Amino acid sequence: MSARILDGRALAQALRHELAAQIAELHERIDRAPVIAVVQVGEDPAATRYVRSIDRLSQSLGAACRTIILPDVVTQAELEATVSRLSADDRVDGILLQLPLPAGLSLDGVLSRLVPEKDLDGIHPINAGLLAQGRPVLIPNTPAGGMELLRRYEIEVRGKRAAVVGRSAIVGRPMALLLLQADATVTICHSRTSDLGAVLRECDIIVAAAGRPQLITAEMIKPGATIIDFGTNVLADGSMVGDVDFAAVVEVAGAITPVPGGTGPVTNVMLIQNLIKATRSRLGI
Ligand code: NAP
Repeated sequence: MSARILDGRALAQALRHELAAQIAELHERIDRAPVIAVVQVGEDPAATRYVRSIDRLSQSLGAACRTIILPDVVTQAELEATVSRLSADDRVDGILLQLPLPAGLSLDGVLSRLVPEKDLDGIHPINAGLLAQGRPVLIPNTPAGGMELLRRYEIEVRGKRAAVVGRSAIVGRPMALLLLQADATVTICHSRTSDLGAVLRECDIIVAAAGRPQLITAEMIKPGATIIDFGTNVLADGSMVGDVDFAAVVEVAGAITPVPGGTGPVTNVMLIQNLIKATRSRLGI
């Protein structure tokens, strides 16, 4: 039997309504729209498209977005000065860095100038540390979206065996910590994991965050398992696929996110959730 499809577009739509209402309420309380500042270095077309989509989303939900585009020849000191200025600016509620930074610029240096209270990516060491301690505040948007999909589709996490394939600081690692926080028993897999299939076959929940098309095949799946696929891989023909062999896995799994249309649409919306959280907690409301 075919798995249940975890529809990220539908969830994102529902979340947009909820978040617009929360922003309207916040606007009333602080007498202005909450403001995101997006810092983009260089004019890479994909980055520019992404930043524009954040701008459109923010405005459609009643938030304001200020985009700061710095030239790709910007120095580390200039970039850090920009982030320091935004960190100190009372009219800015959240800061988003368009990543990755061009080669030669240090993210660690930039993060040292970012106040953790405005860290909408949830990547400041303070926010990452709080998550690791089981006290999450601002968490990275992609794994936050994965957890939201599990919650909204009422997939039981407590007591389940879960595996996360990928250990990056922004996707795999925080997802594993969030699953742990939700009382799953979690295994983190990576490029040096021997016999990935043997690990995955034991798991009720599998999260793919490797960026490797077709890495996870139907033979690796326990029948009925839930699959959250964060992978976004563009093939030579221009089509986009996840890390999971969807056509085969959908026949074995119990629930699965498609690519596109699964985790992707939820990610950006979670950014707005972080903006609301950041604004409320910084202003103590
Ligand atoms: P990343 O920094 O490149 O990390 C990839 C991780 O996968 C690494 O930990 C790597 O292991 C592991 N890996 C690579 N090949 C593997 C293999 N053959 N077997 C097992 N593990 C393997 O990537 P990322 O930034 O975390 O992104 C992961 C994927 O999510 C990408 O496709 C990205 O485009 C996508 N993404 C999606 C969203 C969304 O909203 N859906 C948002 C952000 C990113 P090592 O640590 O050993 O190298």
